[in-house]
Amino acid sequence: MDQKDEVKSKVDIVEIISGYLPLKKAGRNFAGLCPFHSEKTPSFMISPDRQVFKCFGCGESGDVFTFLEKIEGWEFRETLEELAKRVGVKLERFAPTSSSKLKEKLLEISKLASTFYRHLLEKHPAGEKARQYLLKRGIKKPIWEKYSLGYSPAGWENSLQFLTKRGFSIPDIAASGLVVAREETSRISSQSGGYYDRFRDRLIFPLKDSRGTVLGFAGRVMGIGEPKYLNSPDTPIFNKGSLLFGLDVAREFIRKENETVLVEGKFDVLSANQAGVGHVVASKGTALTDKQVAQLGRLCETVSICFDTDLAGDAAARRGIELLDLAGVNVKVVGLGKYKDPDEYIKTDVSGFKSAIKKAMNIYDYFIQSASI
Ligand SMILES: [Zn+2]
Repeated sequence: MDQKDEVKSKVDIVEIISGYLPLKKAGRNFAGLCPFHSEKTPSFMISPDRQVFKCFGCGESGDVFTFLEKIEGWEFRETLEELAKRVGVKLERFAPTSSSKLKEKLLEISKLASTFYRHLLEKHPAGEKARQYLLKRGIKKPIWEKYSLGYSPAGWENSLQFLTKRGFSIPDIAASGLVVAREETSRISSQSGGYYDRFRDRLIFPLKDSRGTVLGFAGRVMGIGEPKYLNSPDTPIFNKGSLLFGLDVAREFIRKENETVLVEGKFDVLSANQAGVGHVVASKGTALTDKQVAQLGRLCETVSICFDTDLAGDAAARRGIELLDLAGVNVKVVGLGKYKDPDEYIKTDVSGFKSAIKKAMNIYDYFIQSASI
């Protein structure tokens, strides 16, 4: 029995699916309204004996893996890990290799660092500046918690010392990207192995996958300074181009609305969520990647783009739209009117912003309207 079968043998498809939709007993089977197409009478059937589902309306069918991949937008590997965790199966096959051990370490380090930064923002006197910054930008505490925002203290070795005290080795911490190697010359005289904190005196946004696992960080400067956003470098667990900020929070809303509102900035996401618009995620800048597009395409049919730049003039945005279009996603554009970005729009006129989303224009109409012909 391979590990997929082992996990599958311990999972009950009825129990899993009933977490997503109400089911009724129908003879030996269970029936419900299909989550993959819209219908008024149930044609979505689950067989507990065979541990499969089938929709007689749209034809979707498969086992518990297929169901979760489809409804959560997960890859096979994610689904396997998630289910294995749920039923307590240890995925041995991947444990012994050194690269997977390192990945596990990096996940632990990221999780712990995130907790550290959160504590500093939420409770520590050092976080006062960051608290004031957020409040001044109108972002209230429940949102800090929802997105696990944090604060990385000023000083050169706070994160480094915190993590070494928790038993992590300097090479592992360095591999996480949270510390940076000093120049050779100064390394000799340093006690900390020649590394210093990457994120210093910044507001911290943990960058998570769709399941909420912290994989990397972005740190925003709060006064003047460059760069405005500093990101974790690519590591064995983190790749900038594959994540969408806020997806873990937005996922269930995206599924419910069958739509994603795609914004550029992290603050746009925070403001929108605070204003009650839950299905919002941010891409980093305007250049969407294949991976981001694939994730969105699995979760919903429509992506409404709400970028603050002039879309028509922006090649990167056009490329993103092309990718979405190629992936079969229905692309719309939300008009921001006189506002420079969603954040500003929301702060001035929440209901206006919400109705702008409802009135989002089909991309082809948008291009024609904005073309200078
Ligand atoms: Zn169906």
